[in-house]
Amino acid sequence: LDLALIKAKSGKPFFACYAQGDDLSHQRELSIIHDLPKALQQGQLYLVYQPKLDVATGTYAQVEALMRWKHSELGYISPAEFIPLAEYGGMIELLSQWALEQVICQQAKWQAMGIHLQVAVNLSTQDIISTTLCDDIQTKLGGYSVSAGSLSIEITESQLMDDMELAITTIEKLKEIGVGVAIDDFGTGHSSLAYLKNFPVDEVKIDKAFLDDLLTDKRAAHIMRMSIDLARGLGFSTTVEGVETQVVSLALIEMGIDKIQGDLFAKPMTAKEIEAQQIRPG
Ligand code: C2E
Ligand code: MG
Ligand code: MG
Ligand code: MG
Repeated sequence: LDLALIKAKSGKPFFACYAQGDDLSHQRELSIIHDLPKALQQGQLYLVYQPKLDVATGTYAQVEALMRWKHSELGYISPAEFIPLAEYGGMIELLSQWALEQVICQQAKWQAMGIHLQVAVNLSTQDIISTTLCDDIQTKLGGYSVSAGSLSIEITESQLMDDMELAITTIEKLKEIGVGVAIDDFGTGHSSLAYLKNFPVDEVKIDKAFLDDLLTDKRAAHIMRMSIDLARGLGFSTTVEGVETQVVSLALIEMGIDKIQGDLFAKPMTAKEIEAQQIRPG
């Protein structure tokens, strides 16, 4: 008998026991879920910050906080692996609250140093459908005397679609208190374009998957141009993530993109590295 995670029809995760043989990847998943709370307590988790280049000013006005985990035995584990497991295991809210606290505390330090950057935090469905998220954020902001406008949250298009009505209610509340909101991984979530107008967000982040054949396939370029135009037409600021080459960056600028994020301009950095660069808006 082994402990396994099963996703119920309701979408809510729960633990169940079932018989099965040795499965290494399964063992790894169980270790990750088991070790996460301890990792948080022992300081194995930390945040790095990846700047977004503002095309109009040529400066970094925003950074995105990305979670990192250096596991004592398994080494570095990607958030692409442990975040979905944390969601599955019912631990994501714990991680998100920690990330929000870290970011707001970091903001207070940066602002005292004269570094003014809006910081984006990635959240999940469970966070965004929580009726207490907004109050939690406000309490944290108040505790560090950080203004709501220096925080923004990113939520993927597919997670927004999980419970659209509740998500919209939360987004409206966040907007009301002045926190920025972005739709992440836009174009990968199989939502109808018609839904986009219902989301009262500030920013649309177009997924890096669209960059793969941007320069080689005219239709891919057309889709990118239309996505940028559509988002702008609806009043959203547009960002493309995952930009690695100069040619792609120039093509996107020509298409009217507002912000570019990617290893070409800046990789995710520690808070200290951000400070060393003394990134300040123009
Ligand atoms: P995301 O929010 O869409 O973040 C963008 C990912 O693309 C990041 O991967 C970033 O490091 C990577 N990236 C940025 N520029 C480039 C580039 O030029 N080339 C390539 N190849 N990659 C680039 P990362 O940090 O591994 O995060 C993966 C995903 O994990 C994130 O996707 C986000 O969905 C999730 N994640 C990360 N941190 C958190 C967190 O604190 N909370 C939650 N809920 N999810 C998080
Ligand atoms: Mg993101
Ligand atoms: Mg993304
Ligand atoms: Mg992503």
